[in-house]
Amino acid sequence: MNYLSTRGHADRKRFCEILLEGLAPDGGLYLPETYPQVDTATLAAWRTLPYNELAFEILSLYIDDIPAADLKAICAKTYTAEVFGTDEIVPLRELEDGVYLEALSNGPTLAFKDMAMQLLGNLFEYELARRGAELNILGATSGDTGSAAEYAMRGKKGVRVFMTSPDGRMSPFQQAQMFSLQDANIHNIAITGVFDDCQDIVKAVSNDLGFKRKYRIGTVNSINWARLLAQVVYYFAGYFQATASNDKPVSFTVPSGNFGNVCAGHVARMMGLPIQTLVVATNENDVLDEFFRTGVYRVRAAVDTHETSSPSMDISKASNFERFVFDLVGRDPAKLRQLFVDDLGLTGSFELSADPAFKQAAERFGFRSGRSTHADRLAMIRDTEKRFATLIDPHTADGLKAAREQLTPGVPMVVLETALPIKFAATVVEALGEEPARPKKFEGIEALPKRVVQLPADAEAVKAYIAQHCD
Ligand SMILES: *Cc1c(COP(=O)(O)O)cnc(C)c1O
Repeated sequence: MNYLSTRGHADRKRFCEILLEGLAPDGGLYLPETYPQVDTATLAAWRTLPYNELAFEILSLYIDDIPAADLKAICAKTYTAEVFGTDEIVPLRELEDGVYLEALSNGPTLAFKDMAMQLLGNLFEYELARRGAELNILGATSGDTGSAAEYAMRGKKGVRVFMTSPDGRMSPFQQAQMFSLQDANIHNIAITGVFDDCQDIVKAVSNDLGFKRKYRIGTVNSINWARLLAQVVYYFAGYFQATASNDKPVSFTVPSGNFGNVCAGHVARMMGLPIQTLVVATNENDVLDEFFRTGVYRVRAAVDTHETSSPSMDISKASNFERFVFDLVGRDPAKLRQLFVDDLGLTGSFELSADPAFKQAAERFGFRSGRSTHADRLAMIRDTEKRFATLIDPHTADGLKAAREQLTPGVPMVVLETALPIKFAATVVEALGEEPARPKKFEGIEALPKRVVQLPADAEAVKAYIAQHCD
């Protein structure tokens, strides 16, 4: 399998070549040349597989430069009941007739990013050892991504993580999760400033090409194809649990920010998994809902990006969206460049409203969308607790709200649960007046010793710290 860039000006590459890369050199995102097709007989054979074997079957359709036995071992080591809490890995729970929650957040950091990041950690370690190389991951986080990356890379050979976060601005639980890690290869850097300062530092360091090469700086951001691929697996696993046979369609609703999660659903659907509808759920930051309603994609300025109670969906633009639009415009790189380079570059938006391609988003690709507000989230958390004795987090609440607006009788609706309520306790307390339960392994973590350094919002200071800790 070869990978091409959405912008059409990069060499075709194989999986392990793009594994450690971010954007393609032409600024585009990597996608497989074709989507492997899965027929009913294959679905039948996969239906009864344990999760790690299902992951191997799907991954091996996209990865032909890792020997099968090695890839199988990597999947087996990644998706264990010990790490993800249950044998099913992503158990489905029926809320009411035909509406399900698929639990994706029982991994080490209690959010769905573990599903992909844990695999990425093992793939990185494998590939770096094979090349005799090292990688220093530099990132910026306001919570979920940073902790998922650290828990995935801790103790991994050949990898160091330098994770910047805005000093004092993460929730105490999130700070404790990250800063309590004592592994020598994990470096927490609290920046005196806000999240944007952290992102600017990462950009400045990455733009210093000499430094970047010398210190082998890489990232684990959500545009990484391996992360997206890992997420395709749980759409299949959810489908099998929601159906008794392979001729029944299922719909999914996905709490969305950077469009990585739902884009994996799109890939699963393109492979032939019988998905009827993919519902993109947003909060007040509704760039994506606006697009699917109107055909206008309008990137927001930082000042127009709201801080909400589902913060992991607070985005101004959706970094994986270009992958879907590439398929939407018939995989025409010239048209894609027109939209993402010319139009977005000039005006910060593009418009497909009158384009026949836009109709296909719903008709051919099955996309719908929904939007919710803080009040909606509170209402959904209360309602779900009251009627089904089930506690959900604010992101999952965004999903459930959008899902209820898109139900089709007879078609199961699977809502992806993207975080556990304990991660966003303040909003749950606001809704219900009580603290969500905390898994045993996280009891008292706020009191553990913290491993973190404070640095000013200055790229030079961060570079000096990295240089100092690289041998
Ligand atoms: C990252 C995240 C999302 C958004 O996922 P995308 O892949 O960026 O669309 C939703 N909910 C939670 C809890 C997250 O951590």
